[in-house]
Amino acid sequence: MTRMRLTVLGCSGSVGGPDSAASGYLLTGPGMTPVVLEFGPGILGALQRYADPGAVNIFLTHLHADHCADISGLLVWRRYHPNPPSGRAVLYAPEGSALRLGNASAEVGGETDDVTDVLELRPWIEGEPLDYEGLSITPYRMYHPPESYGLRFTTDTGKVFAYTGDTAVCDSLLDLARGADVLMAEASWTHDPDNRPPGVHMSGVEAGRTAREAGVGELLITHIPPWTSREEIIAEAKSEFSGPVHAVSPGEVFDF
Ligand SMILES: [Zn+2]
Ligand SMILES: [Zn+2]
Repeated sequence: MTRMRLTVLGCSGSVGGPDSAASGYLLTGPGMTPVVLEFGPGILGALQRYADPGAVNIFLTHLHADHCADISGLLVWRRYHPNPPSGRAVLYAPEGSALRLGNASAEVGGETDDVTDVLELRPWIEGEPLDYEGLSITPYRMYHPPESYGLRFTTDTGKVFAYTGDTAVCDSLLDLARGADVLMAEASWTHDPDNRPPGVHMSGVEAGRTAREAGVGELLITHIPPWTSREEIIAEAKSEFSGPVHAVSPGEVFDF
C-alpha cells in the first residue's frame, strides 16, 4: 500500500531565506524510491539530514534557479563521492532540462556539461498520468514565465495531494486542485492586482480563493519570499478559504 510522506526541506520563495533553503520537498513511502520535488539552493545540504542524496530521484516543476540550482551539487555528489551511487537518478522536468542543467554545471561559460552520465532525463507530458512505483502523478501546465507544471499526486489509498509549483491563477490550476485532500499552493506576494505582473505568481488571496473554488480539504502555503509577510499571506488566504490553512516550514512532515 503506497502512502506518501512529504518532508519540507526548504520552502523559501524565489531565493533562500535566513531560516529556509529555497524550494525542495522530500517524498517518501513504503517501498518507494525517495523523490526530491524541486532542488533549489540549499536543498542538497538539507536533504542530507533525511536521505542519501545518491539514492533519490528528482521531480522539477520548472527550471527557474530557485527550483533547480542545487542539481549542480548533486552532479558532483554522484560523480565524486568516494562511494558513488550505482545507476542513474531519474529526473522528470520540462523539455530542455539537459541544456539548462548542463549549462549551470559547465566548467566555463558557453559550454554544456553532459549530465546524462548520472541523470536519466524524462519530460513531463501535460495531462498524462505517470505511474511512479505505485504513485499516480498527473502534470498540469501552469501559468508562469518558463514551461511549468503543477503536479497532482494520487496514492493507492485514493488520497490526493496537489502541488502548484510556481504559477499565477489560470484555468488548469482548478483542474489540478479540484477536490484534493491537500493543496500545497504557492503564494509569493500580498494582494495588489494593480501592481503585479501577470502570469508569474499568486497572492495569499488567490491561493485561498483557489482552495475554496477547487473544494480542497486543506491548504498548505509555500514559496513565501523573505521579503513578504508570512502573517499577511496567511490572513489573506483565510479571508477566502474557511478550511485549515497552514504555511509550511522546513522540517515539517505531512502524511497522505
Ligand atoms: Zn520559485
Ligand atoms: Zn519560478
